[in-house]
Amino acid sequence: MIYTLKDYKKNYKNIFDADVCIIGSGAGGAVAAYELAAIGYSVVVVEEGGYLTTKDYDGKPLNNMKTMWRQAGSTISFGIPPISIPTGKCVGGTTAINSATCFRTPEHIITQWKKNFKVDIDYKSLEPYFERVENIINVTELPWDVLGNCAKIVKRGADALGLHCKPLKHNVKNCKGCGTCQFGCVEGAKQSAEVSYIPLALQYNTSLLTHCRAEKIHFKGMKADSVECKVYNEKGESVASCTIKAKIIVCACGTMITPLLLKKSGIKNKHLAKHLQIHPCSRVVALMEEEVNGWVGVSQGAYIDDYVDEGIMLEGIFVHPSILAASLPGVGREFFELTKQFSHIAAFGVMVHDTSEGIIFGNMHTSFSWYMMNTKDIQTLKNGIAYLAQIFMAAGAKKIFTPISTFPVISCQDDIEKLKQTYLMRSQIPEVFAFHPLGTCRMGGDSDCGVVNSYGKCFNTDNLYVADGSIVPTSLGVNPQITIMALSTRIAGHIAEQLSK
Ligand SMILES: Cc1cc2nc3c(=O)[nH]c(=O)nc-3n(C[C@H](O)[C@H](O)[C@H](O)COP(=O)(O)OP(=O)(O)OC[C@H]3O[C@@H](n4cnc5c(N)ncnc54)[C@H](O)[C@@H]3O)c2cc1C
Repeated sequence: MIYTLKDYKKNYKNIFDADVCIIGSGAGGAVAAYELAAIGYSVVVVEEGGYLTTKDYDGKPLNNMKTMWRQAGSTISFGIPPISIPTGKCVGGTTAINSATCFRTPEHIITQWKKNFKVDIDYKSLEPYFERVENIINVTELPWDVLGNCAKIVKRGADALGLHCKPLKHNVKNCKGCGTCQFGCVEGAKQSAEVSYIPLALQYNTSLLTHCRAEKIHFKGMKADSVECKVYNEKGESVASCTIKAKIIVCACGTMITPLLLKKSGIKNKHLAKHLQIHPCSRVVALMEEEVNGWVGVSQGAYIDDYVDEGIMLEGIFVHPSILAASLPGVGREFFELTKQFSHIAAFGVMVHDTSEGIIFGNMHTSFSWYMMNTKDIQTLKNGIAYLAQIFMAAGAKKIFTPISTFPVISCQDDIEKLKQTYLMRSQIPEVFAFHPLGTCRMGGDSDCGVVNSYGKCFNTDNLYVADGSIVPTSLGVNPQITIMALSTRIAGHIAEQLSK
């Protein structure tokens, strides 16, 4: 059953009992809910956001950001540069607003977890979980025509330079490439959690409590006993309260909130809310001779991994014109002339496999983060921008626009060489984003290394688990949803074993 605002008894404590209470319905929570419900356990999923579907999407980013993105997308980290770190607040969590790109966890990353944090997982043992997730969310390779012209242009430039531009895999069914992935897929093609895992879970004994925010987990000794929640209406007013009693409690609120909920609930660990890694990203925009119509096609179509050893992944990103246009340089007539040529604009992204770390602070109502990019990561980001500029140049770009304040426009090879030689200051790259926060409740072999064990169980508790991006010990160098979903499937299997004892 799905509880919407009208289903709660107002001004009254709604009491639920279940085998498992899962807090959060995103990549981690939705998977755990289905896996446990499907084998016969009763599940209550608590989700702060509403349940939105294609009928709620109008393809206009600024409308859907208000309903699907936490704080309408205005979540940033403190530091220089400040970095926008958006997350989803709706059923499906951030999967509902993501770009549907799918990568398995790189094997060498899992090996590092074992070596550095005594995480008891190896790539081989994760393979069946990857396969299960990929089947359920239909990971597939789309034809170049659906991937759009930006991908084709970057491939042309990459080919000319002897680089390898490859199509990304996406979790979609019948995707025609409408390009609205991050604002609610208007085609209903993206197999995000609210389209795939949540409906599957609801076929079994699952109650989904929407608009319901977990405020605190209560303990009896080491045993997590119940979750105290409040129901909020669209105006943010508290209209009811709920208590969920469960044998097992799974926290899946995402990397930015789970550590705060754990802290508020009394969990103490020196790694809690630390080691935030985010994959800082930026973009390069190019003015082409040819017509591009970059908004046609999936917004993240292709990638180039020739520079992964330097910590650089080049991945497509063409965001909606209403957002991308705002990042074009110039004012007045100059800006107007450029926007008139918008159909000739191509864009692509740069993602850094970060070595910097940040922290989370504040409270659950207002989560803050502090993340200062170290000089190595700043230079890596700059190098990625220079490589991408080179690729656009090889593809025949007339002008290239970078987010670097000292190199706003690149129009010749000489500019690219100068950019490559430049030592970049933090303050010279104001336009940085991050979409993959990870690590703030990291897995480890013991409580000296991490907050949870290799099955997501919180140290020094009997039955509190974490199954979301926060347990991923380090950044991955690739997009994380498949990693989070595979780990959550594995955690659910372990919980089922515990319940059966
Ligand atoms: C714009 C964008 C594009 C992205 N593109 C990709 C991509 O192409 N490929 C990829 O692999 N990854 C992508 N990601 C990242 C990926 O979607 C996330 O890493 C992943 O969804 C995180 O999963 P999670 O379970 O940790 O958290 P989430 O999916 O964020 O789920 C957490 C859920 O918990 C809920 N919640 C939080 N606090 C509470 C509370 N107190 N009570 C109740 N509910 C609560 C939230 O509302 C949310 O629904 C993208 C992210 C963004 C922002």
